[in-house]
Amino acid sequence: MNIERRVKETIKKYRMFSKKDKILVALSGGKDSTSILFILKKLNYDVSGLMIDLYLGEWSKIHRKNMESFCKEFKIPFHLVDLRKEIGQGICFIKSVLKREKNLTGCTVCGITKRWILNKWAKKLKADVLVTGHNLDDECQTILMNFLKGNIYLGINSHPITGEKKVEGFVQRVKPFFFVPESEIKKYALEKNFKILYDRCPCAIGTYRVETRSWLKNISDKEKKLIVKNWIKILPKLKKKKNLEFKKCKICGDPSRGEICRACEIFNVINNIKNK
Ligand code: SF4
Ligand SMILES: [Zn+2]
Repeated sequence: MNIERRVKETIKKYRMFSKKDKILVALSGGKDSTSILFILKKLNYDVSGLMIDLYLGEWSKIHRKNMESFCKEFKIPFHLVDLRKEIGQGICFIKSVLKREKNLTGCTVCGITKRWILNKWAKKLKADVLVTGHNLDDECQTILMNFLKGNIYLGINSHPITGEKKVEGFVQRVKPFFFVPESEIKKYALEKNFKILYDRCPCAIGTYRVETRSWLKNISDKEKKLIVKNWIKILPKLKKKKNLEFKKCKICGDPSRGEICRACEIFNVINNIKNK
């Protein structure tokens, strides 16, 4: 089945959104988010792109320029959020401080920061739904990584839609590429001749995700699909076992499992360093 049909089916099966909804696509500048933005536009959805400038040197500059031209070419509204204006620092500084102060490694800090900003801007732009370009390989990595680390509950958002019911304060996040292998998306982007970078993020070197990605290459797409499908089957039981109620973060007011959300914990560490 071709990739566009599979996207259509996933949207329909999980009732992700309709033609009436205002859809915001989180753009990294890579093949996955660019392709899903292109497909949704082609399918006549009301889409716009949202990109965070992470300040990762030339890599970020090129991605930003590519996405500006891409959205201009296909007449898609484009929104750019400046991380330094939002948090006061670029992502490399934030990551290095959190590694030193809290031993938080890899992409965890970046992921939490991005999710918080995306949710804030999705609300600001009055989006009904936030689309991300996560694909089958990403989801398989997340599920297995958390399993191997002994914390399967961290994979609770590995689902085509995050959460079964809407949580007040969160814009619903959805992943129409959930069942599409990364290799097929790459093939699609190359065939469409998108003017984008295919290099991986320069900051992701040596992370556990990179290690997992490398050994997952030995697993077929069929097996990866089985992993995510079986995961989806056991998710409701896992959710029942764990209390997944949300409180309100005392600082930003976003839904949070603790008194303070994980993003505000990160921002507190950064602010303390700045005030020293
Ligand atoms: S790969 Fe990691 S560091 Fe790079 S943008 Fe993604 S989450 Fe951030
Ligand atoms: Zn918060």
